[in-house]
Amino acid sequence: MGPSLWDGLRSPVTFIGGYLGAGKTSLLNYLIAGSDTKRIVVLVNDVGDINVDASLIANHDGDTIELTNGCVCCSLIDGFAATLETVRTMPAPPDHLIVELSGVAEPQRVVPWASTAGFCYDSTVVVVDVDQIRARASDERLADTIERQIDAADVIVLNKVDLVEPARLQDAVQWLRTRTDAPMVPAEHGHVDPVLILGVDRAIPTTERSPSRDHDDAHITSTTSLTEPMKMSEATDLLESLGPEVVRAKGFVRAPGGEILLLQLVGRRCGVSIHHDDAVTTGALVVISLSDRTC
Ligand SMILES: [Zn+2]
Repeated sequence: MGPSLWDGLRSPVTFIGGYLGAGKTSLLNYLIAGSDTKRIVVLVNDVGDINVDASLIANHDGDTIELTNGCVCCSLIDGFAATLETVRTMPAPPDHLIVELSGVAEPQRVVPWASTAGFCYDSTVVVVDVDQIRARASDERLADTIERQIDAADVIVLNKVDLVEPARLQDAVQWLRTRTDAPMVPAEHGHVDPVLILGVDRAIPTTERSPSRDHDDAHITSTTSLTEPMKMSEATDLLESLGPEVVRAKGFVRAPGGEILLLQLVGRRCGVSIHHDDAVTTGALVVISLSDRTC
């Protein structure tokens, strides 16, 4: 532990990063549910114009703040600063602030904000989909973003270990080890003991890499409203009909029986499940694709 700034007046800030679909929201939900920390404020950044991730945050007693339609590390940096000001001026500072970054965000660009008035840096956690990371990192359009995310990690969560053979996991770990000395924690569905993540009090990492261009170059986000009810099989068909350029899709649609269906696609893996949340009223699908341009 370095010199601690935790004097009860500054709120520690944890950043959760990692590429689209790695499992950041699952980890966030697990941390909130399992932490002893009293009042956690959660800031969720989604590049789509509806914030699906915020809708997926369950059982949170504290405040959840949504930042949508852009990325906090580039196009929404002013919105991020304004949101920190909102948190800072709350009547009582939260015991912890967790920032779920967008899947394309570079943590290095936002972590300096954790040393501004009212806050102190806790750590940056980067969630990795062990099934997809090697393929993503070998795509020249994504390699730079993914490498920068890994380089920023104080802790790596090796998520979805239940989906891969041991050899594939070993391969992912070996590759990650060529880039980072950060401790790695294996996880299924983002289940990681909050003790390993919150309150670790790291120093803000320094980076010698030059800033990159905005990732709007590499990713195209579109939202389609889904107003007609859809059966589960139809929702699956819709996800499976998306082209290979789609790296992430997520959204909700109402089923003929009135249930809310949650649609998710990560790479070529898709899933449709019933989502129990009365707050979801609009059907929509956010689709994030890779553009042909190299970033
Ligand atoms: Zn960004």
